[in-house]
Amino acid sequence: MRSLPGTQLNRSAGGLSLDAVPFDGLLAESSRCQGDARSVLKVCGDAFRYRIAATVSFQPAYLELYQTGELKRRAERAMAMLSDCTLCPRVCNVNRAEERTGTCGSGRYAIVSSAFAHFGEEGCLRGRCGSGTIFFAWCNLRCAFCQNWETSWEGEGREVTAEELASVMLQLQAQGCHNINLVSPSHVVAPILAALVIALEQGLRLPLVYNSGGYDSLAALALLDGVVDIYMPDFKFWDSAQAERYCAAADYPEVARQAIREMQRQVGPLTLDDSGIAQRGLLLRHLVMPGGVAGTEAILEWVARELGRDTYVNVMMQYRPAGRVRGGEFSEIDSPVSEGEFRRALEAARKAGLIRLDRHSAARD
Ligand code: SF4
Repeated sequence: MRSLPGTQLNRSAGGLSLDAVPFDGLLAESSRCQGDARSVLKVCGDAFRYRIAATVSFQPAYLELYQTGELKRRAERAMAMLSDCTLCPRVCNVNRAEERTGTCGSGRYAIVSSAFAHFGEEGCLRGRCGSGTIFFAWCNLRCAFCQNWETSWEGEGREVTAEELASVMLQLQAQGCHNINLVSPSHVVAPILAALVIALEQGLRLPLVYNSGGYDSLAALALLDGVVDIYMPDFKFWDSAQAERYCAAADYPEVARQAIREMQRQVGPLTLDDSGIAQRGLLLRHLVMPGGVAGTEAILEWVARELGRDTYVNVMMQYRPAGRVRGGEFSEIDSPVSEGEFRRALEAARKAGLIRLDRHSAARD
């Protein structure tokens, strides 16, 4: 994610460095479908079959917006916002067309670090053929513990034009991926929209997954209303002081609450097709941190109370010390999460009344 808690760039599993590979033929090597539809359904939870929607009629949200001309207008509006950037809650007011001095370090174009069929995501995203994941370089949330440091803090990757980004999306679709999973997209909403128009005109029909750290502005989400099918935000910290210490964003908890409420309003609870693959809705992630610094209990209570007990939640225990944590400045989180801490997090989810825990979390129960 932004730092993607628990989701490392996995080039050895089929991901390709964009520096090394021409766009024609990109990703061809990573095409490999796994498992069968029945096992995928099981992964996503037999208890919730009643929510499954029919696949046959599925159309991505952005198609209707395109037909009215609104998608192009959104892309133009987003591009215009770059000249005095207010795309995310940092409100840097810099001209990204000419300089890269905002907190996210990004300019006019997106930088793609890698793109591949990802088999490490939630079962309802990866399915049999993988989640078509595109990792963007840089990030608007500066997590000290980022597991993707080179990507998020150092901008490792290759700058792409809108046409090239569209081409990556189409190649992921051609591989059979179930969705386009945009990782760390908050600061590159404008180039994503520009690329989406081109990709759609060339046949893109997969659902879009907006996989962010939860530090998203309402202005950016308004641009994405009717564009994104699946929102997959993190809710990282409940306490403002902790968010300031670990992400340099004291307003993170309030921003995340607002953003997640808006995402829920736009897409509703997560729905799956008859193979158990996510089609539309909210999938929330929460990374358990050592020493309880994330405020897990308060977050899960809020989710159940404000969003509903049937909110699809992945409680994750993949935290590992990384990034600046290794330097000694953050010794209180310089250890993995213990089994006991994770068990208490699951108990908190149960106590809050949450009934749709992703199998990754439920399996540890
Ligand atoms: S997207 Fe980047 S430049 Fe724009 S407000 Fe956010 S951090 Fe600043």
